[in-house]
Formats: sequence, structure tokens, C-alpha cells
Amino acid sequence: MQWFNLGLFLLEAVIYFTVMTTFLHFRRQLGLGVFLAALGVMHFMETYLAAVFYIELPLGTVSPGSSVFFAGKLMMILLLYLKEDAATVRQPIYGLFLGNLLTVGIAQLLQFHEVVALPGGRSADMGFLDEMGWLMVWGTALLYIDAIGIILLYERLGRFFRNHVVLRFALSGAALLTFDQVGFYAALNLLFDAPPSVFLGGWWAKLLAVALYSLLFAAYLKIEQIPRFARSAREITDIFHALTFRERYQALLAQSGVDGLTGVFNRSRLDAEVPKMIRSCLDRGGELSLVMIDVDRFKEVNDRFGHLKGDEILKDVVARLRISSRPSDHLSRFGGEEFVLILPGMDHEDALAFADRLRIEICRSVMRPDGQCVTVSIGVATAPEDGHVQDALLGCADERLYRAKKDGRDNVHGRFGRLASSEAGAGA
Ligand code: GH3
Ligand code: MG
Ligand code: MG
Repeated sequence: MQWFNLGLFLLEAVIYFTVMTTFLHFRRQLGLGVFLAALGVMHFMETYLAAVFYIELPLGTVSPGSSVFFAGKLMMILLLYLKEDAATVRQPIYGLFLGNLLTVGIAQLLQFHEVVALPGGRSADMGFLDEMGWLMVWGTALLYIDAIGIILLYERLGRFFRNHVVLRFALSGAALLTFDQVGFYAALNLLFDAPPSVFLGGWWAKLLAVALYSLLFAAYLKIEQIPRFARSAREITDIFHALTFRERYQALLAQSGVDGLTGVFNRSRLDAEVPKMIRSCLDRGGELSLVMIDVDRFKEVNDRFGHLKGDEILKDVVARLRISSRPSDHLSRFGGEEFVLILPGMDHEDALAFADRLRIEICRSVMRPDGQCVTVSIGVATAPEDGHVQDALLGCADERLYRAKKDGRDNVHGRFGRLASSEAGAGA
């Protein structure tokens, strides 16, 4: 009998998850209200079952109300969050809570009625309705905490294994339903004298339900990939389909302001971030150097070896710049083959020496297809002496870069003209 119960239990979970996920999946066609109303309608039954309907499973005494349906609802709320965002998921959470308060309030009023006796002697059990009401309020208060908790935990787990969405789904579900079981059992024990076996049995059953829901979730993610089933408005080719709204937003943010070819920051990111870096450095009484790097005779590289090869060389130059710079530095592509490196806290003399090492390393490591080394010319300016704001520093470094070009290229120019050590010319 226990195994038969288990079979039925699993069947109920599969039906619940499949139907609810279908409503959610087709939300653009059906309207999200269908999913939300179904979620709300299930609430009364799940609370009623949790109060009075228990079955024997091999794991112990269990109510499908709390393990299949309540656990299912929490996972559905997480799924809704994955598909939409926090603003959307807030609606059923508040709606359920306020709707249950209303139910309890109205149940209080109903008790004042003179009730007509029905044929067959059936009468309403108002006391039970009252108890049920409070259990529903308690259940949804817990659901409120559970829902926020499961979303926060899911997001937090993303820091450790971002791409393992099913694992995150399972772990956050298991953790929050464990918490929930403690809270819900306390109420059952108070109101209905539920024995401790109900706690343990219910806990196992919730974990079993989460495991099953996680498998079904994994299957759903797979099915969603099949173009025929991809009915949601989001593109199937969207690699972000399994990420949460916040993760999609962060990914977009990380991509915006980044140069597509080289992966360093672009000009707009430079304009957005560097003025702040200069100000905070100067406010602390420190210095900040700006290094402007331009690849020499790059047009010739393109003309002789093609633009694709030119692109490769730009990437190689950037790789070298990245290796040499510190995490606190700010590297951006200023224009075609011009890069700007911001060195907070570095004075002029150190910046010149640093720029010269860059020049030599680029020449050593970046080669043209004909075996000649790629050289760069560099202009260096340092705040506060050369200017207090970004434009002044850029203008100053640009002018020095121009002089470096005039001076035969493959050298570094600073405040005092050409840097002595670059006299020999590494590329010569
Ligand atoms: P100089 O030594 O005076 O700097 O000479 P140069 O040829 O490097 O200078 P110029 O500014 O005339 O040419 C820069 C060239 O960079 C022109 C442009 O076609 C090329 N370029 C700009 N952006 C890209 C890019 O993304 N990929 C490739 N392959 N070439 C680019
Ligand atoms: Mg150039
Ligand atoms: Mg140029």
C-alpha cells in the first residue's frame, strides 16, 4: 500500500509540475494570469490537505498538500522568477498573502450568520474554517519568507556554479523547504497536535518532491531547446535563457562598454570611469599617469597582410598590455590602433619607465607575418602636474605621442621630451 501511495504521490507531482510549467511556458499566448490564478486556486486545497489529509509512504506519514503542492508552488515561484523578474514574482507572493488575510477576515464575519439547517443534517464546520484560515495565513507568511529566501539563495549559488541551474534549483529548494518544514510543522503541532513523525515524513517528502521537480525542470530546459516547443517570446538562440533577470542584466552590463575586437574597455567606458579615477586619486593627494599607445605604421600592416591579420596583431598588442598592467589599471581602446592605459598612483618617472618596458615587450612579443616586430609609440602625461581633468591629460599625452611619432616612432615621450632609454629604439 505504501508503494502504491508513493506511485500516486509521484504521479500527482508530475501532473502538477507539468501542467503548471505549461501554463508558465505559454504565458505570452495565454497571459500570465492563467498561471497566477492556477497557482492561487491550488492554495486552498493544499492547505486543507496539509491540515487533514495524510498518507503512509515508505518514508513516513506525509501530506501531499504540503509536499507535492506547497513545495511545488515554491518551485513554481522560483521558476517564474527565472523566466521573468522580481517585479513579476512579487505579484503572486503578495496576492497570496493578502488573499489569505481576506479569507480569514471574511471567515470571521461569516460566523455571525444564522445558518439554515440543510437536509441530511449537514452543517458547516466554522471552527475548522477558522483554523484553516489561520493555517493559510501562517502558510503564506512562511511562503513569503520562503519565496524571498529561495530567490536570494538561488542568486547567491550563482556565484559558485552559475551554469549549473538545475543544481542551484535543487539546492535552494531543498534548503528553503527544510526551513519551511520546521515552521509549518510548528503550526500543525499547535493547531492539530501533529506527531513528530509528521515532521520527519513531511521533510523527506518535500525533499523527494524537490528532487523530482528538479529532474522535471532539467527536462523542461531540454525540451525548451527544441525549436518546435520554443513558443516563448524569447529567442531560442538567446544563450541567456536560463539566467535570471539580474544575471542577464549583469552580463549585459559587463558586455556594454567593452570593445568587441580586443575585449578591453571602449571609449565610452573610458569617459564614464576615468574622470572618477582621476578625482579620487587626486583627492587622496596621489598622482595618476595616463599612457597613450599607438601602433606604428599600422596602415602598412593592413595594406600588406590584410585587415584580418591586422586584427590579430591588435589582439596580440592588447594581450601584452593586459599582462603588464595591474588589476587596478584601466585599459581602453581609444581609437583604431590607439590604446589608453590609466595608472592610478603612479608618478611620471615610474610611468615613463613602465611605458618603456611596455614598448620593449610589445616589440619582443608581437610579430608581423614577415618576421619584423610590431612597434609602438607612447605619450605619457601625469596628474596633477600635466592637468587635473581627463581632457587635459588626454590632450597632453596625445601631443607627446605626436612628438614621439615625429621623432622616428618606437619611443616614449614625456614631460621632458624623449625618454633617454628609448634612444636606441627597440625595434631598430
Ligand atoms: P603611425 O605610425 O603614424 O601611427 O601610422 P599608422 O599607419 O599606424 O597610422 P594611421 O592612423 O594612419 O593608420 C591607422 C590604421 O589602423 C588605419 C586603419 O585602417 C587601421 N585600423 C583601425 N582600426 C582597425 C581595426 O579594428 N582592425 C584593423 N585591422 N585595422 C584597423
Ligand atoms: Mg598608428
Ligand atoms: Mg593612430
